[in-house]
Amino acid sequence: MVIEPKVREYICTTAHPMGCAESVRRQAEYAAAAGRVEGPKKALVIGCSTGYGLASRISTMVNCGTATLGIMFERPSNGKRTATPGWYNTAAFEKLAKEQGVYARTLNGDAFSREMKEQAVKAIREDLGKVDLVVYSLAAPRRTDSEGVTWSSCLKTTGESFTQKSLDLRSNKVEEKTIEPATDEEVQGTIKVMGGEDWSDWIDTLSEAGVLAENAVTVAYSYIGPELTYPIYYHGTIGAAKQHLHKTAGEINTAHPGVHAYISVNKGLVTQASSAIPIVPLYFGILYRVMKKQGTHEGCIEQMVRLFTQKLYGESAPVLDAEGFIRMDDYELSQDVQKEVKAEWEAVNTENLELLCDLEGYWEDFYHMFGFHYDNIDYQKDTDPVTAIPSIAE
Ligand code: NAD
Repeated sequence: MVIEPKVREYICTTAHPMGCAESVRRQAEYAAAAGRVEGPKKALVIGCSTGYGLASRISTMVNCGTATLGIMFERPSNGKRTATPGWYNTAAFEKLAKEQGVYARTLNGDAFSREMKEQAVKAIREDLGKVDLVVYSLAAPRRTDSEGVTWSSCLKTTGESFTQKSLDLRSNKVEEKTIEPATDEEVQGTIKVMGGEDWSDWIDTLSEAGVLAENAVTVAYSYIGPELTYPIYYHGTIGAAKQHLHKTAGEINTAHPGVHAYISVNKGLVTQASSAIPIVPLYFGILYRVMKKQGTHEGCIEQMVRLFTQKLYGESAPVLDAEGFIRMDDYELSQDVQKEVKAEWEAVNTENLELLCDLEGYWEDFYHMFGFHYDNIDYQKDTDPVTAIPSIAE
């Protein structure tokens, strides 16, 4: 079939296998240019197929030669519908791993479930013995916990409603958007889904099964952002979940003295998870423009290569702030960047949007996530949407 993008608000319902493979190839090429460091030998990457998790898997493999077991929740093609981008990315990643002679295996299913944790333990025992790195990079709307209770996360404020400028992605208009406060139940639900409980369950399970190497490292990803987005992000429901995640790092360190748990606070980027947050895309558009102008803009792979070669591994690692966090948002939150972003945020409206906001960069990242808009891919070509992931097809 000829595969074209079908965009519905902040999601694209199709994905292109060749374009996704191109995205993985480009990320691997970027990582290779950064050279090799002594890093993890065997890693479990939970949420390995898109965004920060995929970039972590690529960087560890390319920069450290790490064997990876990945966990994802993706849909293959049935021949009529395309697969999800994470499916195609993973097929491309495994192909690349094979070419480089590095072990890669992927499990597709619900990482929150007990069954998936048991499958992962089994796979580690069969193939790797132990892992010395666990990356926790899940972004999900729902979680069914070990008691069988299903929780939903939401993107709301806590306390009071909040009105701010927002970008309507359908019309490219700047409009005021009011976000209503969450109920206590909604806050609790978001903490259950995006907080640290499941990360902690994973580490307990792996540790009890004896598949964590001595001095294993585990890292979970967070976002804090500037004060501008605090009401919707850091002081909102998702921020409450992230603060729970931060607390969990300390709890893992106390409960498992042989494990080193870290929080990496990453840069705000267009990914499938972040496109759904109100107000934030307008901030990202302005941020992209300012950071590109100042020469400090990074995407997922640039962030993760810097994390794995300089901050979490590498000569002076770990590089932590006073609170014990790894700050990959250092460039984003620098005074130079935030001063300019703040001024442009105040000035931005529908008329000057193109001038002050990197709309083109935003949409380019958006389409690239689904494998579209790569200039070296022939999108008119008849393409088979069915792509096998070697370790899953077996
Ligand atoms: P993403 O949507 O690109 O990736 C999510 C990953 O989780 C995918 O691999 C998906 O398959 C997997 N997944 C989702 N539900 C699953 C389930 N039930 N079982 C197994 N796998 C599942 O998201 P992202 O933006 O890369 O976010 C990853 C982490 O990074 C999140 O914790 C997010 O808060 C954090 N983060 C994101 C940003 C940003 O701006 N995008 C910034 C800082 C931190």
